[in-house]
Amino acid sequence: MTWKACELHSHTFHSDGKQSLLELAKGAKALGFDCVALTDHNTMTGLAGKERIEEETGMSIISGMEWTTFYGHMVTIGLTEFVDWRLAGLGDIHQGIAEVHAHGGIAGMAHPFRIGSPMCTGCFWEFNIEDWNDIDYIEVWSGTFPSIKTNNARAFRLWTEKLNEGFRIAATSGRDWHTQEQTDEPVSVTYLNIDETEGSQTSRAVRALAAGRASVTMGPLVTLELRTASAVYGIGDCVPKQERSGSYEAFVTIDFQARAGLWHYPEAGYTLVLTGNHGQMSEQQVRLDESVYRIEISGEELMWVRAELKGTVRGVRTTIAFTNAIYAATSEGE
Ligand SMILES: [Zn+2]
Ligand SMILES: [Zn+2]
Repeated sequence: MTWKACELHSHTFHSDGKQSLLELAKGAKALGFDCVALTDHNTMTGLAGKERIEEETGMSIISGMEWTTFYGHMVTIGLTEFVDWRLAGLGDIHQGIAEVHAHGGIAGMAHPFRIGSPMCTGCFWEFNIEDWNDIDYIEVWSGTFPSIKTNNARAFRLWTEKLNEGFRIAATSGRDWHTQEQTDEPVSVTYLNIDETEGSQTSRAVRALAAGRASVTMGPLVTLELRTASAVYGIGDCVPKQERSGSYEAFVTIDFQARAGLWHYPEAGYTLVLTGNHGQMSEQQVRLDESVYRIEISGEELMWVRAELKGTVRGVRTTIAFTNAIYAATSEGE
């Protein structure tokens, strides 16, 4: 498995973007991405010429679509064909997600708390979700320099609440990238841990995200493992009930070379935090010459744990990176 830098939310002039797929792929390449998902609003026509552009730029292009309605935007990747949901009503979300799944895709809530009408039609999430098991991922960081935005803070809290309720939902960032205009704000990356042995680039990315093998960052790549006497569990994995332990060794790796040269933050003042269903579990200083951290954590009633890297960006103390969760089963057969 390999961690690949992905941008999971973008548009071309086939919807409201101001760029072609080729310009998008070149721009993503320049920012150190390995793959980019095209998620135009309610159309997949922008994917025409995908193979040629992949060959020309060396970027993997993941097929996707942003299902855009008056009641919310749902970002999807992996659809094999266009599905029309434009007329979906407030109570129809589960039917729509079932169609996404039937067409090989997975579905996430896009920018759920971004201000809606009249600023951005349907941007604020209003669909009734009756079963959160249907939601594959939540785009908790939207836009550039996402960690400081209050709408993203709400989305991040929503994700944490759902994890606490026992749902296994992945979390991503998405730039909602519309144009090649330069920005000097930090750009966020969703790293996916990709199994390269079978399937298309799109299906590999879908499998990785569906399994929660994701780590989000504006800088270094942070990964997490839980070790017991007999096994190692990675991001997205679940420790089965019979393997549960009174304590775990958590191993966090921080790769400061990830997309080296494309981000710069003050070297001092990084802290590493482990968070789980009991709240903050540990906190420690990070040294730039130390890339692996071993932290003993209690397994007592543990449901999930993630790693977070804090630091100073543009003079603001903020989260720079966070991993998706590792889970611990609370009932048999999980
Ligand atoms: Zn949107
Ligand atoms: Zn969008």
